[in-house]
Amino acid sequence: MRLLPGRRTMRLRLTLWYVAVLALSTAVIAVLFYVGLETALRNQVDNGIRETAASEAKTSVGDFLQTGAEPVPDEASSESMIRVLNGEGQVLGGAGAFRRPRAGRQPRAGLATVPAPGDRAPWRVYTQAVKLPTGEPGWLQAGSSLAGTEAALARLRRQLLLGLPLMLLLAGVGGLFLAGRALAPIDHMATAAEQITGSDLSGRMGPQGSEELGRLAAAFDRMLERLDMAFQRERRFVSDVSHELRTPLTALRGRIEVTLTRPRSRVEYQDTLRALETEVARLTRLSEDLLLLARFDRGVLTPGMEQVDLSGLLASVAEQVRPLAQARSQILVEDVEPDLGLRADPDQLVRLFFNLLDNAVKFTGDGGRIGLTGRRNGVAITVEVSDTGAGIGSEHLDSIFDRFYRAEESRARTTGGHGLGLAIANEIARAHGGTLSVSSRLGEGSTFTVALPG
Ligand code: ADP
Repeated sequence: MRLLPGRRTMRLRLTLWYVAVLALSTAVIAVLFYVGLETALRNQVDNGIRETAASEAKTSVGDFLQTGAEPVPDEASSESMIRVLNGEGQVLGGAGAFRRPRAGRQPRAGLATVPAPGDRAPWRVYTQAVKLPTGEPGWLQAGSSLAGTEAALARLRRQLLLGLPLMLLLAGVGGLFLAGRALAPIDHMATAAEQITGSDLSGRMGPQGSEELGRLAAAFDRMLERLDMAFQRERRFVSDVSHELRTPLTALRGRIEVTLTRPRSRVEYQDTLRALETEVARLTRLSEDLLLLARFDRGVLTPGMEQVDLSGLLASVAEQVRPLAQARSQILVEDVEPDLGLRADPDQLVRLFFNLLDNAVKFTGDGGRIGLTGRRNGVAITVEVSDTGAGIGSEHLDSIFDRFYRAEESRARTTGGHGLGLAIANEIARAHGGTLSVSSRLGEGSTFTVALPG
């Protein structure tokens, strides 16, 4: 798989963040643990010497005075001591390493950390006032060396300082591996996305490893599907437009070239110009229809809503179409309820119903019957345009509202339509919050139904 620029950095950044957060949290935990342990060990020492002092003060002050300046057997190796001092802080006697911790000039009751010359660590000493057997005031001190505690703490410090970086290193390597795995599908998706271009929208992300990314990829694929269809529609539309333009332009050019081959009479020129005028009018209609659809697409053609008397509007459209129907000996039967009213754009509605009625006349043979009905249907208004004409094959019904779609090319060619009339009618119905639908049977006629919110 190709590595996209940035993926390495992304992976590294993710891992660094992860390690940084881990380092910070473990450092906080380690410090709290260390301080807690140190306090617990000190408390243990302090409680020990305090208890010793309290019990010895009651019983053995006199015994310690016996030892005086004599050597004590285990003095050198002892890590604890007890001693008696006179009021000025002079050591009178004791047990254990009682000569090692320094005695101050003026002892004070309570706990203190005292240096011991020659020892690695200081001592913790508890001082308590006592009465000497002579009756004078003196002091009793119980002490314990901090060497053991310090050694334990030093060992812990060493372990933490060595262990933590090692743990972070392992976490970093693991994080790098996991980040790589997590980013691989994203990389794959990015590669797939980069290969998708305007001219080739066929690429897809496909299923992905994880559920979350799988959903993202599926949503992306569905979007591509829609884009692909929209692009295809667009391309077809452009090629249809070019085709529609080329045919009349070729005809125009042919006609002009033929006319120009030799001098013509005035009547011949007039004939040619009239024929040209008809073609140009057709082209103008086409460009106007295209413009209208483009404006619907851009969403700039929002209907100018006003209160419309639909019954009257349908009657006037029927009057426009009647001469066309009469020319083909067709009867136009109107059955529209009076006082049908709605909020709509009247110009757009005229266009919608004219397109349907015009089609009905165009695609119905001589002597056929065209029907126009209008009914209130609950809150909606339903208008039907029916005919007894050629009908539409079921295979065409789904596409009949597509732009440039003509059910039968040959038939449509003779009617002179571009295949945009129904597409425009459909857009107008939709813009009004309504629908346009068709039911038809080949050879039996068609019914187009417009449902509009009343
Ligand atoms: P056109 O300009 O060709 O009339 P339309 O969009 O209005 O374009 O119609 C598209 C096609 O639908 C027509 O070419 C025709 O094949 C079919 N059609 C439309 N109305 C009818 C109808 N009343 N009866 C039969 N076929 C119809």
